Amino acid sequence: MSKRDYYEVLGVNRDAAEEDIKKAYRKLAMKYHPDRNPDSKEAEDKFKQVKEAYEILSDGQKRAAYDQFGHAGVDQNAGAGGFRGGQGFGDFSDAFSDIFGDIFGGSRGGRAQVFRGADLRYNMEISLEEAARGCERQIRIPAHEHCDTCHGTGAKPGTQPKTCATCGGHGQVRMSQGFFSVQQTCPTCHGTGKQITDPCPKCHGAGQIKTTKTLNVKIPAGVDEGDRIRLAGEGEPGENGGPNGDLYVVTHIKPHAVFQREAMDLHCEMPISFTTAALGGEVEIPTLDGMAKVKISGETQSGRVYRLRGKGIKAVRGNTYGDLMCHVVVETPVNLTERQKELLREFEEISQQDVSAHNPRAKSFMDKLKDFFS
Ligand SMILES: [Zn+2]
Ligand SMILES: [Zn+2]
Repeated sequence: MSKRDYYEVLGVNRDAAEEDIKKAYRKLAMKYHPDRNPDSKEAEDKFKQVKEAYEILSDGQKRAAYDQFGHAGVDQNAGAGGFRGGQGFGDFSDAFSDIFGDIFGGSRGGRAQVFRGADLRYNMEISLEEAARGCERQIRIPAHEHCDTCHGTGAKPGTQPKTCATCGGHGQVRMSQGFFSVQQTCPTCHGTGKQITDPCPKCHGAGQIKTTKTLNVKIPAGVDEGDRIRLAGEGEPGENGGPNGDLYVVTHIKPHAVFQREAMDLHCEMPISFTTAALGGEVEIPTLDGMAKVKISGETQSGRVYRLRGKGIKAVRGNTYGDLMCHVVVETPVNLTERQKELLREFEEISQQDVSAHNPRAKSFMDKLKDFFS
């Protein structure tokens, strides 16, 4: 099924500013909202289209992918297979590769067809610290080298590729279909216009040899799970002089022993002793840039969250930082000595004299139970 152009759906120009896209979306979303158009299938479909278009065009990264590759560039279903294939390569030709031929494959009469090379995807696992601070990594990726035996022609040294007999060197053939004459890529030479009769023994006629190359990849501080870093021109080589594809490095963040990440914020558990919880005090907790002190106020309960501003992850763009949320867990002491037990029993005896003052939560819980059984 063909999809409508997202800009057309929202009725904005391709160079529309973010603000205009938002305005157009609001207007159309109001117009087609299901609450305003009960039982209208047409309005419902329009509403969905508008929502989808806005989701893509309001996201800078997705919009860029859409501008470059059209629907295939942002289709959530395309290329999902093998995406989390661990470190290294998932699928070589992902969502983008299928459409390249159409973009660059000009059938300008007589010239051999030119294809842009396929894009490559590289899955890179990094630690949370590396994601937070940014890092530089070397990766090895497949590459194609010009064959030096045949100098890229694919023909055995001393021989020459012949002009393709089927298309006469045009790379294209005309086929009659009823009244129409259709131009197609030549099936014999696949658009090159040449035929190799004696292939080069080293590259078997390909003109290039598969090797690997090492690339330096700079991971910017703040990247998150699934972010893509584009290395222009580092993908598969183009055919017949077409441009190279791009390489996309997709970041995967390893789970961390202490911190859980939520966008720019970090969360961690902060166990404190029950006396610190009751009397207040100070605890030291780890952050991504060293230890930090947290002041615990008296009568702190489990589940309370202390927020350390700016101790989270930096935004990829701009210079803002997320926060670190420390979730208090009051620890029940273990391996008690006789003396400790004695003190606690004495403490409990005093507490029992006024339960509603010292343990209001336990008191109200007991009251609820009483109501329940009466
Ligand atoms: Zn060769
Ligand atoms: Zn041909």
